[in-house]
Amino acid sequence: MTLFDTHCHLDVEAFNGDRGAAFKRAHAAGVTAFLNPAFDLASSQRAAALAGQRPDVWAAVGVHPNDAGELDDAVLASLEALLAQPRVVAVGEIGLDYHWNRHPVDVAKAAFVRQIALARAHGVPVIIHCRDAMADALDVLAAENSGPGAVPVLLHAFSGDADQAREAIRRGYWLGIGGPLTYPRAETLRAIAQDAPLERLVLETDSPYLTPDPWRGRRNEPRHVADVAARLAVIRGIDLAEVAAATTQNAHSLFKIESSSAQANTR
Ligand SMILES: [Zn+2]
Repeated sequence: MTLFDTHCHLDVEAFNGDRGAAFKRAHAAGVTAFLNPAFDLASSQRAAALAGQRPDVWAAVGVHPNDAGELDDAVLASLEALLAQPRVVAVGEIGLDYHWNRHPVDVAKAAFVRQIALARAHGVPVIIHCRDAMADALDVLAAENSGPGAVPVLLHAFSGDADQAREAIRRGYWLGIGGPLTYPRAETLRAIAQDAPLERLVLETDSPYLTPDPWRGRRNEPRHVADVAARLAVIRGIDLAEVAAATTQNAHSLFKIESSSAQANTR
């Protein structure tokens, strides 16, 4: 069994003390590939560097909606330069966050739109962070990323309702499923994860955040993607091996990563 953690912030300080050990524990749990997204320019540089150092890590670069004020021409040019690296395979995480609302909506939307354009210019997927803003995020994506040249869309830590999930799937988006799947009140998410076509789902942890039960309250790490996979298998009534094979394959096609290159890197 091999699992792909499509969203883990392994570059952050929370892993400075035991990053190598966290990778080892992940591999021991069958989690052998990692996509490290970014939230600002500094984390984009760290994510790209980590992907350059480790053959089991790929990176996304981008500015999170909570940092949208940072996205000026110079930052955009720096992100563009990082996208030239072969293991930088996506733009993210980008989107809208009306929970924290750190910036005026027009500033947040402008940063979102500019980074969708950046992804389209490079033909790479976008990884979307969306909190309390799913309707607007879907509107922006419809306006800015449809027709010829549209890039794949991953709605990370999907938190929309059933209608929004259906609309996302109709458009061919991927839904990122993580620790919240295990939370007591996540009935809506479990129903979506049960009904969605398996081809549209990828797994993630969002480490060091969103730790699954029963570890909630502690730092999350990529090995817990195995717990998310196990829960998804129970919810769908299928074998864990089937969940692992399908979601890993989905991640490979989404990020255009060859299966052989991922497997050769198992350590
Ligand atoms: Zn994240």
